[in-house]
Amino acid sequence: SVQREALIAAIENVAARIEEEKSYLTELDSAIGDADHGNNMHRGFQAVAEKTDDFEGMSPGDIVKTVGTTIIGNVGGAAGPLYGGSLMTASQELDDGITAETSVAFAEAYLDKVKDRGDAPVGAKTMVDALTPAVHTYKKSVEQDDLAPLTAFAKAVDAAERGVEFTVPIKALKGRASFLDWRSVGHQDPGATSTYIIMEEILKTAE
Ligand code: ADP
Ligand code: MG
Ligand code: MG
Repeated sequence: SVQREALIAAIENVAARIEEEKSYLTELDSAIGDADHGNNMHRGFQAVAEKTDDFEGMSPGDIVKTVGTTIIGNVGGAAGPLYGGSLMTASQELDDGITAETSVAFAEAYLDKVKDRGDAPVGAKTMVDALTPAVHTYKKSVEQDDLAPLTAFAKAVDAAERGVEFTVPIKALKGRASFLDWRSVGHQDPGATSTYIIMEEILKTAE
């Protein structure tokens, strides 16, 4: 289907983009973590890219679920279960295909799962800081402002970017960066950054 082809293209582009951003993400993680975020994400998305042939006969929900399980199986650390497990759980919302309604449900389920697993509130300098404004903006734009999903998603990507900027001046309260206490201040969170980059690449593919 057209939808499946678009989804597969988005996944392939995200994998290629993560490869391009690998050093940047690792550099961010070297300032406040253990310098592996780019490598972790790259390992995961390379494994995903190797599976795209299997995606041809699958439904969108099953494709996203497979992306999640592949990330869990190939990315260790904090980001693996957060990204992979949340994609896996939220993929159920796409069982009836990707529509404005199911995409909002997917976004909310993904955010809920990340918060469930990681127990990080907004302001702890994690991926939650990019994800929360993005998901809220997407939901509001679709449901209240009645914008087309693509327009709503563009606004969500902007919100995620502002969320990334918000991580710079704050102190990490969760994850490895929290071990640095006040020394984490002034550095951009790697996981918030990868979340934004992935969203931006999906938007580029969809446009
Ligand atoms: P690790 O820290 O285990 O080396 P990564 O470097 O791959 O894993 O990922 C680090 C990113 O994971 C952080 O930048 C942050 O965004 C995210 N993260 C860490 N802990 C949490 C948490 N408890 N909740 C949400 N996100 C988290
Ligand atoms: Mg790390
Ligand atoms: Mg690590």
